[in-house]
Amino acid sequence: MIVMKFGGASLASPASIRRVASIVLSEVSRTPIVVASAIGDTTDHLLRILEHASRAESYLAWKLQEQLRTCHFCLAEDLLGEQNLEPVDQYIRQVFRDLHVRVLELCEGERTLTPELRDWVASIGERLSSRILAAALRESGLPAMHMDAEKLIFTDDHFTNATPLYWETYAKIRWSVPFAARDRVVVLAGYIGATEDGRTTTLGRGGSDLTASLVGAAVNAEEIQVWKDVDGMLTWDPRKKSGGYRIKNLTYEEADELAKAGATILHPETIAPAQRLRIPLIIRNTFRPEGEGTRIGVPEANCSSPVKSIACKTNMAVLELRSPTVEKSLASYSPVLERVCREQKSATLLAMSDQAIYLAIDGNGCNPNLKFAFDQCVEVHVRTNQAIITLVGQTLKRLNIAARLSALLAQRPVLILPQTSGSCAVRIVAPQEDLALCTELLRRAFFAEVDSEFFAAPEFVPVAQPVALSPAAIRASREQLAFGKTPAFGGVI
Ligand code: ASP
Ligand code: MG
Repeated sequence: MIVMKFGGASLASPASIRRVASIVLSEVSRTPIVVASAIGDTTDHLLRILEHASRAESYLAWKLQEQLRTCHFCLAEDLLGEQNLEPVDQYIRQVFRDLHVRVLELCEGERTLTPELRDWVASIGERLSSRILAAALRESGLPAMHMDAEKLIFTDDHFTNATPLYWETYAKIRWSVPFAARDRVVVLAGYIGATEDGRTTTLGRGGSDLTASLVGAAVNAEEIQVWKDVDGMLTWDPRKKSGGYRIKNLTYEEADELAKAGATILHPETIAPAQRLRIPLIIRNTFRPEGEGTRIGVPEANCSSPVKSIACKTNMAVLELRSPTVEKSLASYSPVLERVCREQKSATLLAMSDQAIYLAIDGNGCNPNLKFAFDQCVEVHVRTNQAIITLVGQTLKRLNIAARLSALLAQRPVLILPQTSGSCAVRIVAPQEDLALCTELLRRAFFAEVDSEFFAAPEFVPVAQPVALSPAAIRASREQLAFGKTPAFGGVI
């Protein structure tokens, strides 16, 4: 059994969906279970509808709903014959009717925009795409069936960024999916789940990857394929700088660090479920299915290049907690840590040494009044508008590159964080305005020569042409991305 997850850009036009059907067909002997993202940028548009509605901009909200509705109808009409079209058509009608009612109530002030309502609306994209894809597979002759993700993926009630209830989810999937998948291609929506009492939740933006990983782990799949519109994980973002390499192999640990360090190609929680069962995760390109992509799994050989990829997060605040006394136990930091975690929901631990603790806070959610006086004898230094650059590579576990980095970036006001022992990531904190220069210096230093067993020049770099969201665009775009999806990349420089 394998899991095949298709991203929004892979489903953004009738031609792309037909291509997806032929890819699924080519793997049919391996019993595929298919996970679908929302078509193109549908999720963004749905959230935009809510923004308009909550500002009582009913005309703008209505206009976007109409565009989305027509695009889905057009896609379905283009792909499906009468028999397969009928139920999908009914479903699209029903969903947009329900959405319209809720949006009107929001505009009229009869309803408030709760995280729960936001998730219900955001889930529409995948509920539609998974049904359209299942019908399109049937149309192409595959015996496909749709299964409800909300009845398979259980989560807590942390709406908009819910955490799966892993064991309940695994048990449910194990009971129902493999049996159905024996003689049919099971298709389900990514990104969405439900609380145990049946309220729709979402797993956070980009959450379909996590769905694929959950399903793969539940059925102990032989492989999880994540189909995107790029050749695989790249060393840096080709939209910013051309000439990056495709990484052929990554270890689970490297991929996990990259996903958490800001590489937009995988949802940050995707790796763990697959890694636990040692299921390989393979990133492949829907528009060039013959490419080998990036394989994430158990390392087979040692890479002679110390750095595999560089990712970064921007608009961050970094807190440095430091004790003026030499001998300070960790416990003495705890009042400050507690306070930060209480006030700053997005706080994450960056690094820790005997002398200091470093925390990162997402700049958008950062409290602007974040001020610390001498707090229980711990000095707190806050840096705002920072970028966190993460270098990732298994070799970095044994190789100390701190001195090399200090020399390389000596002229820049950067902070090279102490490396956590046993970690394959090295992090640098740099002021936002220094990011471009720092990353260029790093790129030249670490990718001037690369190990050809692990890196390949990308054979195809897609240029996504944003196309207006319109039914005419859907019809016209046999090859194009109808919803103007911007591709996601591995390293983000
Ligand atoms: N459609 C959702 C999003 O755009 C989930 C996904 O694509 O994985 O965030
Ligand atoms: Mg999406």
